[in-house]
Amino acid sequence: MNYQECISTIKELNRKFRYYKSIESLFEYDQWSALPDEGAAYRQETAAFIGDGKNALYRGEDARRSAAYLSGVSPDEIEDDVERGLIRTFRFRYRNAVMTPEDTLRSYNMIKADCMKAWNQARAAKDYGIFMPWLKRAFELKKEIARAIDPDVPAFETLVGMTDEGLSVKEVSEQFDILKKGLRALLHKISVSGQADTQEAGPIPDSDPEQMAAFAQSLARELGYRPERGGFNDRVVHGFTSFMGPRDARVSTYRSGSYNLIFTCLHEAGHAMYSCSSSERMVEAGMWGGIEGGFHEANARFFENMVGHSHAYWEYYYPRLQEEIPMFRQISLQQFYDMTHQVKPSLRRISSDEVTYSLHAILRFELERDYFAGELKAEDMAEAWNDKYETYLGIRPSNDTEGVLQDMHWAGDYIGYFQSYALGNIYDGQILDAMKKDIPDMEARLARGDVRSISQWMEEKIWQYGCCYTADEMIRKLTGKGLDAEPFLRYLEQIYLPQK
Ligand SMILES: [Zn+2]
Repeated sequence: MNYQECISTIKELNRKFRYYKSIESLFEYDQWSALPDEGAAYRQETAAFIGDGKNALYRGEDARRSAAYLSGVSPDEIEDDVERGLIRTFRFRYRNAVMTPEDTLRSYNMIKADCMKAWNQARAAKDYGIFMPWLKRAFELKKEIARAIDPDVPAFETLVGMTDEGLSVKEVSEQFDILKKGLRALLHKISVSGQADTQEAGPIPDSDPEQMAAFAQSLARELGYRPERGGFNDRVVHGFTSFMGPRDARVSTYRSGSYNLIFTCLHEAGHAMYSCSSSERMVEAGMWGGIEGGFHEANARFFENMVGHSHAYWEYYYPRLQEEIPMFRQISLQQFYDMTHQVKPSLRRISSDEVTYSLHAILRFELERDYFAGELKAEDMAEAWNDKYETYLGIRPSNDTEGVLQDMHWAGDYIGYFQSYALGNIYDGQILDAMKKDIPDMEARLARGDVRSISQWMEEKIWQYGCCYTADEMIRKLTGKGLDAEPFLRYLEQIYLPQK
């Protein structure tokens, strides 16, 4: 095998891997929106078959020969960025496929359904004790798998790397400490300035779901989410985006008359546009879709928060909201802005505000980190969770369902995942700084409805590269610096503290 043969081989493997992933996306989309109860068992069999086929790609002879050839190649020798990305991705998947102990993986897959069932039962009974043995089993199996994949590093390092490739737990912890400290100081300043009280303007009543969906979807389209590349389905409980193909990303949302639907649509449109705007070269190499984990989240949260929560954006769009949904004529732009910028520590991550959101993610990351370091036992998880809420947010869950049983992640194979939510915010602060250097009149543009210059900047600087770079490489390419929490903190201070 020579270099060119190796590149063609791993490109072909990569493309096939993506075909499998697209089928899995289609299954997931269907599972949450249309799959009937009695179809579930056969679907599970079919999904397992597809999953086996996907994993077998990297256990085959082509992969083995490519890995042998590449063992003598250092990434620094590769001049072409796409080829370097292909090699990195290949090595990552090859390692995961050949090092994962099949027995342990099978044991883990066997308990998945029971884990989810126990979590649901525990939630109904508000009793963590019902879920605890399953959480312990799931965490222990994950630990075994992670240790086998890379015996040289602690298990949690490998698990975090599966979601946010290339980031170390140490680096994440350091930036989270800075963010945590900054956020708690900011929360204190906000409460002292009395802003939280004056903003207690009360909830915005719900409107007609049809009208709200039409308005929210029109905003997503104006950002640049094209109907030829996707579409909306409002039959699910939480918003998510399915990456079906390089030019096909479907947005699923809940059906609701709440204004929150607007922010959900902007968020998901961010994911969707990112995933289907890779260049032809990336598509051809199977490197489309964007960098997974915190960086993808950053691209979604950017449109939800930096754009969708900005005053300038609503200066243009609020009159249209008032025209299309008459109820908003009773609420002024300033009142709407204040209502959508209320800062109030709460127990629920998904409905929390922009300031406290990262703290919810950070504390979950810390609990996982402490567990895998052997410093926290599964038996003590609920209590540790409540203590963290009290320390970081000043409130304590009154039962386990409000607390440790809140998210489906640990029951649903998302272990080592929570850091990505807070990382998304950190990257956003850095992306905003870089964008403002190129588009200094960004606010004036937003105020006249020019949202496309933002999407175009994203496409040119980030989206076209698909998943060719790691998040760390991408953020350095954009800003010249690695992960840095300071810009996000500065952004929040500007928005949430009265400016002198
Ligand atoms: Zn998201």
